[in-house]
Amino acid sequence: MLTYNNRTALVTGAGRGIGKAIAETLAKNGVTVICVSKSADSCGAAAAAITAAGGKARALAVDVSDGAAIAKAAEALLAEVPVIDILVNNAGITRDGLLFRMSDADWNDVISTNLTSCFHWTKHLARPMTRARWGRIVNITSVSGIMGNAGQANYSAAKAGMIGLTKSLAREFAGRSVTVNAVAPGFIKTDMTTEFVTKPELAAKILEVVPLKRFGEAADIANMCAYLCSEESGYVTGQVFTVDGGMAM
Ligand code: NAP
Repeated sequence: MLTYNNRTALVTGAGRGIGKAIAETLAKNGVTVICVSKSADSCGAAAAAITAAGGKARALAVDVSDGAAIAKAAEALLAEVPVIDILVNNAGITRDGLLFRMSDADWNDVISTNLTSCFHWTKHLARPMTRARWGRIVNITSVSGIMGNAGQANYSAAKAGMIGLTKSLAREFAGRSVTVNAVAPGFIKTDMTTEFVTKPELAAKILEVVPLKRFGEAADIANMCAYLCSEESGYVTGQVFTVDGGMAM
């Protein structure tokens, strides 16, 4: 049994897939969740589903690739509540392609959405956590950031960058009991992976390198996050937890 003491969390990319599962899992445990996504429809539907199930949630449409938009949103939130106790940086995109065909826009969009967004959200939300002497920050990276992946130079660089950010901030905030950890999913069934998961030949090829011989569910990642956001994980910081069916071991 994990405990959360009625904390408040902000989860980015909570409109769909892994972020939605994280938001739902935290809400089931009594956490008030601010669901952030790019489209108002997406985070609105996710927050409405949580509320309909008896949880506490609200929607906030923010383009996380826009640092000024994050600053504005964070300032408005912190005018309402003194602290957001839990931050899950989950929003992410892919723009895959081999290096020689990768455009500047494909590089910059992936770095700003996946990596720079974590810098901005953390910069704005971590200060009140450090003052409160309690906080949980979880960054959703990827096995691509650990192993590398041909065709994903931009994404792997962003995800590896998130790991460096996680470890540095874990050291910066440790004295204030704010933990910073990363979760590295393998192949999880979401909109991001539909292309791989639904093509039988491609799916079979991928599963050859997954010892547990199945794709992961969003709930598999949410369960790991739930632990890292709980009171009970207070002695765990600066770590990267792969949830990948054994692929990167
Ligand atoms: P997904 O189903 O494509 O959902 C992505 C979410 O991120 C959506 O809610 C989307 O908002 C939001 N988002 C994207 N760009 C945004 C922006 N500029 N501003 C605000 N929100 C934005 O992806 P997923 O598979 O759940 O992936 C979640 C995280 O896990 C990502 O960081 C991804 O890199 C990582 N990951 C996934 C896998 C996998 O196999 N699925 C593996 C390793 C790592 P809208 O709903 O408004 O579009």
